[in-house]
Amino acid sequence: MLLENRVAIVTGGARGLGQSYCLGLHREGAKVVVADIIDTTETVTKIKQAGGEALGIKLDVRSAESTQQMAAKTVEAFGKIDILINNAALYGDLKMQAFHEISEEEWDRLMSINVKGVWQCTKAVAPHMMQQQYGKIINISSGTILMGVPGLLHYVTSKGAVWAMSRVLSRELGGFGIRVNCITPGFTMSQASRDIMKVSGAEGMEKQIAAQAALGREEEPEDLVGAVLFLSSELSDFITGQTINVDGGVVHW
Ligand code: NAD
Repeated sequence: MLLENRVAIVTGGARGLGQSYCLGLHREGAKVVVADIIDTTETVTKIKQAGGEALGIKLDVRSAESTQQMAAKTVEAFGKIDILINNAALYGDLKMQAFHEISEEEWDRLMSINVKGVWQCTKAVAPHMMQQQYGKIINISSGTILMGVPGLLHYVTSKGAVWAMSRVLSRELGGFGIRVNCITPGFTMSQASRDIMKVSGAEGMEKQIAAQAALGREEEPEDLVGAVLFLSSELSDFITGQTINVDGGVVHW
């Protein structure tokens, strides 16, 4: 197993892609902290029923206090933190709209979760990784930054910030043995993606995107797990500040 004795935190692990990452990390032997603003019972139960160790934590990534508590509770339960997957984001509740239609409130709310949240979680967890001179931080950006997808300006901008943040953090944390990498998922068939298509009147978008993919099919949550496990494991120990685009070959860069 790739991650035996490792302790991983997945923010936004209650559902969707985050849940797939939690289950994948568990399959490779990690103890998993499922941290989310919504109820984490489903993911925690799935891991425990499969014989693994998991802890659910209520988290608001916007709050310094909440992220500090997440780190403290993880160390209390499992003794350390090796892996942080910064996956939580405002995504599922979005509606595609022109840039000038986005309200100021929605802009600020999205930035505080998608950008400030990644910074807060990293700040809370990094001291524990520094102490042990080892850590893996994986920031979930989005393939929309490579395509410049219209209709989601605030979201795409926030994910560009996550990509840029990963580069800076890799340099600031590299001396402590902490690797910081980024994944840009393509359009993936989570419930959140289905909801966005429905409220935006964009049903069938996944078929158009699949037609552009070198591998010629839609992307499923499980398609992203391999890249997460690779970047979480020792197999990628000399890789930092990099971005892996996982989209079946829609964008080549
Ligand atoms: P999702 O909306 O189901 O997942 C987001 C998770 O973040 C949810 O569990 C939500 O409760 C949690 N969250 C939201 N606000 C939070 C807060 N303040 N504090 C803590 N947790 C909070 O969407 P998903 O499709 O599973 O996407 C997961 C991640 O992957 C997101 O970062 C998304 O931007 C990214 N992504 C998704 C796709 C896709 O096509 N599904 C593509 C590219 C990138």
